[in-house]
Amino acid sequence: MNKVYCCFPGGKHKALTMSYDDGRSTDRRLVEIFNRYGIKGTFHLNSGFLGGEDRIAPEEVQSLYAGHEVACHTVTHPTIARCPLPEVAQEVLDDRRALEALTGYPVRGLSYPNGSLSPEIEALLPGCGIRYSRVVGNSDGFALPENPFRWKATCHHNHRLVELGEQFLALNKRQYLYLMYVWGHSYEFRNDDNWDLIEGFCRMMGGQEDIWYCTNIEFMDYMDDWKRLRFAADNSFAFNPNARDCFVSVNDGAPVRVPAGETLRL
Ligand SMILES: [Zn+2]
Repeated sequence: MNKVYCCFPGGKHKALTMSYDDGRSTDRRLVEIFNRYGIKGTFHLNSGFLGGEDRIAPEEVQSLYAGHEVACHTVTHPTIARCPLPEVAQEVLDDRRALEALTGYPVRGLSYPNGSLSPEIEALLPGCGIRYSRVVGNSDGFALPENPFRWKATCHHNHRLVELGEQFLALNKRQYLYLMYVWGHSYEFRNDDNWDLIEGFCRMMGGQEDIWYCTNIEFMDYMDDWKRLRFAADNSFAFNPNARDCFVSVNDGAPVRVPAGETLRL
């Protein structure tokens, strides 16, 4: 029987994603750095603050974040564990509505404002159309998220960033999938006067053949698609019912593309 492994797009086994909150004006400089090195990120925005002092303007959201993901951070950034649940639902749904009017696509990601969450809020989010939500803190690791509603990053950019980046680049055991996930706020680079940190990191990490550069939702959506692949009982063929290609490796051979909507003999 064939031994099948999941691969990331292009047959890769490492993924890098970034996550930046609050939509401050310093996002412009951060996006420019990401774009220069081909790094992809997710920007969690408070729609109620767009256009305010030191904030991104609503009319620039679509063009500035093109190629990246715009995601929710609630309308007004409350500490939601202290709020009634209906208020939390409105903060999320109204943020989605406002951001979708600007981007033109379904907005399905969230990061918890002030890192605030509860089991009740976690349970509420799928019903509000949210697919994942990021917590605060560092895992110091490269594991895939077990609970997408408590998605913890590898590190904040002020926590062992270059050291962890070097570790990630050195990972070459292809029997594992690895994810490096970095989070922060772009205004911190201004406050800490350390733009060179993120510039150097992106220069070091960009352009690597074995890394898939993805937004948070691209990562979740690809893994969801992959789990929908339908394999024959003996793994001799697979049907891909999704709208996008998925990748597998068979018996440790070179990665194979299972085209969207097609059955492929493995
Ligand atoms: Zn925030």
